Amino acid sequence: MDFESLGLGPELLKAVAECGYTEPTPIQAKAIPAILMTRDVLGLAQTGTGKTASFTLPMIEILSGGVAKARMPRSLVLAPTRELAAQVAENFEKYGKYHKLNKALLVGGESVIEQKKILDRGVDVLIATPGRLLDLFERGSILLNDIKVLVIDEADRMMDMGFIPDIEKIVSFVPPIRQTLLFSATMPKEIKRIADKFLTNPKEISVAAPAATATNVHQGLVWSPPRRKKETLAALLQQEKVKNAFVFCNRKRDIDGLAKWLKNKNYDVAALHGDMDQSKRYEVLEAFKNDEFRLLICSDVAARGLDVAAVSHVFNFDVPMHPDDYVHRIGRTGRAGMDGRAFTIAAETDDDRKYINAIEKLIGNAIEIQPMGGQKESASHSQNKPQNKPHNNSGKQATQKNKPSHSRDRDDKPENKPNHQNKQSPQKTAPQKESAPVDSVKQQPQPQKAPQQNKPNKQNKQSGQDDSSSKGFGDELPDFFKN
Ligand code: ADP
Ligand code: MG
Repeated sequence: MDFESLGLGPELLKAVAECGYTEPTPIQAKAIPAILMTRDVLGLAQTGTGKTASFTLPMIEILSGGVAKARMPRSLVLAPTRELAAQVAENFEKYGKYHKLNKALLVGGESVIEQKKILDRGVDVLIATPGRLLDLFERGSILLNDIKVLVIDEADRMMDMGFIPDIEKIVSFVPPIRQTLLFSATMPKEIKRIADKFLTNPKEISVAAPAATATNVHQGLVWSPPRRKKETLAALLQQEKVKNAFVFCNRKRDIDGLAKWLKNKNYDVAALHGDMDQSKRYEVLEAFKNDEFRLLICSDVAARGLDVAAVSHVFNFDVPMHPDDYVHRIGRTGRAGMDGRAFTIAAETDDDRKYINAIEKLIGNAIEIQPMGGQKESASHSQNKPQNKPHNNSGKQATQKNKPSHSRDRDDKPENKPNHQNKQSPQKTAPQKESAPVDSVKQQPQPQKAPQQNKPNKQNKQSGQDDSSSKGFGDELPDFFKN
C-alpha cells in the first residue's frame, strides 16, 4: 500500500514524501480514503500510529477548494492540550505546505487579541482546546456555523481531562450537517456514547498495533525436526501444566490428523476448522468453554472470533505464515489481564526460519527458546522460568511472567470490552471478538511496551506534552514505521 493509492492530490503526495514517509500506517490507509469520501470516521488506534496524518491529510485535500469567511472557520479540530493542539497545527503546516490554507491555533496561554486577529482574516482550519474555544465563542469572537469538518482528536484523553461536557456544548454550536471524525487510542464507554451521538453512520476503523502482543503472555519457541513436531508437541504438553489450550495448525487437513494422533495418546481433544458447519463449530466451542475437553486443535479461521476465558496455553503446531496471525493466536491466552503461555513449534526448515524471523521482526524481539525435557532447567511445569536467554539480544522486553498457569481463576471473565487484537468495527461487535489488525473488528489497543529496537523517529513529538497517552512515541515507534 502506498500513499498514491489513497486518493490524495499531488501536492500532498509531495509533502508526504518530503516527510520521509514511504507508506501509510494502517489507520491512515483505512481512514484517508473514507474521509475523502466524506464519511464520518471513528478511528481507534494506539498512540503513535499516525492518527494525526490520517485526518489532516484528507482534510487538507477537502479544504483545498473553497474560501473561509471572517470569523467563520471551515473546519475545527479539538485537541485536549495545548501541546497536542500545537502538534496538530504542525501537521497541517507540514503536510499543507503546498496548499494555501489558513489555520489558527486557539489554545490557552496565547494572546487572545492575536488569536482574534487571525480569526478575523478567516481560517480554513481552527485547532483548539475546548476551554479556549468556548471562551472565544462565548465572547462572540468566533462563529461555528460554517464548520464542515469537525475532528475530536485524542478523545479518551479529553474524557480523562473532563472535557466531555465542553465538547458536547461545542458540538451543539456546530451545524448538524457536517463531517465528524473522532480519534482515540481506547474506546471507553463514555467515548462510545459520544461517538454514537455525534457521528453519523461512521466508518469504524480499529487498528491493533501489530506488535501488540499481550505482555502477560510468556512466549516460547521450540525448534523441532520437521517430522517430529507431533512428538515435540507431546513433550511440551507433558512439561507444561496445561489446563486447556488452543493448538493451531496452518492447514485444515493437518487438524484432524493431529487431533487423532493426540487422541490416540489419550489427550482430550476436539477439532475446529472452517470446513465444519456453524452449528458443529458452535457445539465444539461450547464444549471447550465448558471444559469438556482440554485441547482444541484449530485453524486461524476458526480461531478468529473465539473468546474463551481462562485459556492457559496456546501452541502453534505450525509457525503461522503471516506474522499478524501469530499475534492473534497468542492473544487467545493471557486474556483479561491473566497470565498465559504460548509456544511455537518451528520445524528446522528454511521456511519456518523465515516465518519466525518475520514474527520476531513484527513483535520487536526474539521469542525465547523454550528449554525442553532433558534440559535440567526445564523442569516439568509452568512455574519454571525458562532460563535460557533469547537467541538474540534485541528483545529485552520485560514481558514474560511465569506465574503458574493453573492459578488462574476459571470464573474470571474477560472484560466485556472489545479486546485488543481486534479489527472489527464496533457495529459488528458482538460475535466477533478477534481478528486481524485492521478495520472491521473492534479492539481495545492495549498499552504496550514497545520493542526496544524501535528507534525514535525523526518526527517525534515535541516538547513536554502533559499528555501521558501520547508520551514518548519517539522511543515507542511501531514496527510498521520502519522499512
Ligand atoms: P498518534 O496520533 O496516533 O498518536 P501521530 O499522528 O502523532 O500518532 O504520529 C506519530 C508519529 O508518526 C509522528 O512522529 C508522525 O510524524 C509519524 N508518522 C505519521 N505517519 C507516518 C508514516 N506514514 N510513516 C512514517 N511516520 C509517520
Ligand atoms: Mg494523536
